[in-house]
Amino acid sequence: MKITVVGAGYVGLVTGACLSEMGNHVVCVDVDPRKIEMLNRGEVPIHEPGLDAIIRRNAAAGRLQFTTDVAAAVAHGTIQFIGVGTPPDEDGSADLQYVLAAARNIGRHMTDYKVIVDKSTVPVGTADKVRAAIAEVLAERGVDLEFAVVSNPEFLKEGAAIDDFMKPDRIVVGSDNERATLLMRAVYAPFMRNNDRLVVMDVRSAEFTKYAANAMLATRISFMNELALLADRVGADIEWVRRGIGSDPRIGTHFLYAGTGYGGSCFPKDVKALIRTGEQNGMTLGVLTAVEEANERQKLVLVQRVVERFGEDLRERTFALWGLAFKPNTDDMREAPSRVIVAELARRGARIQAYDPVAMPEAQRVLGDVPGFSVVPSQSAALEGADALLLVTEWKEFRNPDFDAIKAALKQPVIFDGRNLYDPALMQAFGIEYRGIGRNQRP
Ligand code: NAD
Repeated sequence: MKITVVGAGYVGLVTGACLSEMGNHVVCVDVDPRKIEMLNRGEVPIHEPGLDAIIRRNAAAGRLQFTTDVAAAVAHGTIQFIGVGTPPDEDGSADLQYVLAAARNIGRHMTDYKVIVDKSTVPVGTADKVRAAIAEVLAERGVDLEFAVVSNPEFLKEGAAIDDFMKPDRIVVGSDNERATLLMRAVYAPFMRNNDRLVVMDVRSAEFTKYAANAMLATRISFMNELALLADRVGADIEWVRRGIGSDPRIGTHFLYAGTGYGGSCFPKDVKALIRTGEQNGMTLGVLTAVEEANERQKLVLVQRVVERFGEDLRERTFALWGLAFKPNTDDMREAPSRVIVAELARRGARIQAYDPVAMPEAQRVLGDVPGFSVVPSQSAALEGADALLLVTEWKEFRNPDFDAIKAALKQPVIFDGRNLYDPALMQAFGIEYRGIGRNQRP
């Protein structure tokens, strides 16, 4: 099939690459010439495990192309996926300017039947806006062309995006048009040959489903984070509590980890956008408002622990920071808790020596101007001359480090563990002072 993907970011690139892997001819179009030049040189602008090989293979086979030429890209695909960004607007609602610009481009250049697929995360009612935007441009052109707009929210997780796309739990398609539904079935058939995981529903329910999923996951995280704070006060260990409740199949083990708060490009903005949708419809979403408040509070917890230990004035202090990306296996720093932690430590005069396996170039870009912040080439370099270690992202390589070396390198052997990776009893055995999140350590 001929497919166009608008937006060559995390979602667009994975979508385009995986669809080309199944034999489709895919053109990815982006307004950012730097990205497209990189891709055409064979470089992948983001870190996503397994993506490079798929892009290289399919680009070499001529099934995957990258361009900034909007007219050519629109002409190419019968199916036009829109995977552009939907950042939060000033009032928290999703900013649809990029989605609607992409829609107008399609209207401007299309000459035959198109199925426009909203893959970006967009509020309920956006498909109607996309339809209206295209219809308006077609009317200006004085042409009458058939098209359908469907919703197909993306559920991939950064860091595991290829697997998620290739072996999806479910594929949600919101469509009120039979021909478009048939084409969507054909697009996704190769990804579910043994069990049909396509859930076809009306467009609005599909749009809503994406927000509901992210809001539920964010709720679980904030719930556990709040309980972790209480666990410290009452003398309980949230890690035991997590295991105790996760074994109940009604609860399940996923997304029950206390930590430094959720971040990334999706949860914060999607929770905000759903709260805003509530307001626009005369409803206060109390649960989600609390979820967001708990998350803002949580991003500060690790720094509070540092201040409890070292005082407000951190001008003579240096901290090693392991992990900058908002989660492991990605270079994405959008809304990463590390950004708040670095800013709060720097505001108190501290120096921060940070290491991350892949996010350091991105960290340098977004945090490079923060006084006292520097990135260093290794875990051990971060520890050199530091007063304490802050563990912020749970990369696998941080799970079982050389604790003797940590103890020897730090001026005072203190670990502030923002991901509860380490065992408090083991830390005690190593003679390391340890502060986790909700590990029975009264503030
Ligand atoms: P991104 O910022 O990585 O990529 C968006 C790309 O769109 C950018 O390269 C940008 O230059 C391009 N773009 C903007 N306007 C354009 C236009 N008019 N024409 C062509 N290209 C244009 O964003 P992302 O993380 O891939 O997210 C995209 C959407 O998918 C968002 O709505 C997001 O909420 C949703 N989503 C993201 C994830 C994720 O894990 N990143 C998962 C599921 C859903």
